Amino acid sequence: MDTDDLSRFCCQNTDCPDHGIRGRGNLTVCARYGPHQRRLLYCKTCKARFSERKGTPLFDTRLPEAKVVEVLAHIAEGCGVRKTGRLVGVNKDTVVRLSLLAGQHAQQLHDKLVAFSPEDTGGPVR
Ligand SMILES: [Zn+2]
Repeated sequence: MDTDDLSRFCCQNTDCPDHGIRGRGNLTVCARYGPHQRRLLYCKTCKARFSERKGTPLFDTRLPEAKVVEVLAHIAEGCGVRKTGRLVGVNKDTVVRLSLLAGQHAQQLHDKLVAFSPEDTGGPVR
């Protein structure tokens, strides 16, 4: 179970020369935390530490991850904000926030939530 595939992560420190660049090999797992054993990543380039969830819509939300996934799945299916909120049972403001975040992080989302990928939008995304 210990597959530390960090290729989809990149340094979150905006001052780092490797910021936003994936697959550099600059990241290592320095710790695990929380009930879900989230990984704490360490960037060898700038020596920053950050959560693997940082920079994704799943980070820093008070919703359980399952709810977040559900919301995003509905959005991806073309459900409106109101309808999504009603179906999933979350505030529509939360839906808006998540969908905005999701838009900014479409790539990471695609990687993370392949399960809800509604359709093939052409070519594998890496
Ligand atoms: Zn860095």
